[in-house]
Amino acid sequence: MSRLTDISYVKGVLSKNGFTFSKALGQNFLVNPSVCPRMAELSGCGDDTGVIEIGPGAGVLTNELASLACKVVAVELDKRLLPVLDETLAEHDNVKIINGDAMKLDLHKLIAEEFPGKKVVICANLPYYITSPIIMRILEEKLPVESLTVMVQKEAADRICAEPGTRESGAISAAVHYYSAPELLFKVSRGSFIPAPKVDSAVIKLSILKEPPVSIEDEALFFRVIKAAFSQRRKTLSNSLSSGLSLPKSEIAAVLEKACIRPNARAEEMTMANFAAITRALQQQT
Ligand code: SAM
Repeated sequence: MSRLTDISYVKGVLSKNGFTFSKALGQNFLVNPSVCPRMAELSGCGDDTGVIEIGPGAGVLTNELASLACKVVAVELDKRLLPVLDETLAEHDNVKIINGDAMKLDLHKLIAEEFPGKKVVICANLPYYITSPIIMRILEEKLPVESLTVMVQKEAADRICAEPGTRESGAISAAVHYYSAPELLFKVSRGSFIPAPKVDSAVIKLSILKEPPVSIEDEALFFRVIKAAFSQRRKTLSNSLSSGLSLPKSEIAAVLEKACIRPNARAEEMTMANFAAITRALQQQT
């Protein structure tokens, strides 16, 4: 068994390096020894797979990924963790740590340079402050990856995986379902981390779709519609679309009628097909 499943070893390396946790960087490190092996295995990585990890922290998940995958490239923003990772991952020769910001790094270039001709997956315990932006960045940039297996706060997991057209759905659910098939793999209690966050977490897997579930000519407009629809959840769809898209109510009424949607419907009732119908009706209107 690896030393990295031993919490006192991990704490020892961190304290030897004078490391203190940064709340601003979303540093809640996994210390439950059963979570990382399960996450790495469910990410689908094998000896033909390259893995990108965002935020390796002390390297507990990286260690499991490196044992299964052909190569792991882990992007860590906090340079104080570099000596820690040097020590904890010393036994692996298939891990590369990049000190950088996963929100800014050119990930297309990284994949082309580090994983030519390889199947690539993303696996990470994400810093909670960039959960949605990082997921949306990866999906919107259409990176050539097979899936994203990520730990996020439980509430975010529920929202991301909610089927559009159901009460729990939001703008992120619709966007995620356009690019991927999301599933909630398992829940992780707050006590599995140091320091323990105030809420529980969950591991979700987004398997990238080859084709989107609806056919859209103007993707930018489709996403503007979704964003506007959910911009004021308490209002009716017609009011939020009118203010969110800066269009008169009469025009929105005509669009909804053309898309066969009740004017007093709410955003969370809209399926992917409904959002697509609104987008097409808007396009025809202009
Ligand atoms: N993977 C480790 C684990 O599971 O124990 C640490 C996960 S911790 C939730 C998030 C990690 O992401 C931290 O190591 C933090 O420093 C790093 N991080 C925060 N913002 C980042 C960013 N923009 N780019 C890359 N890493 C980031």
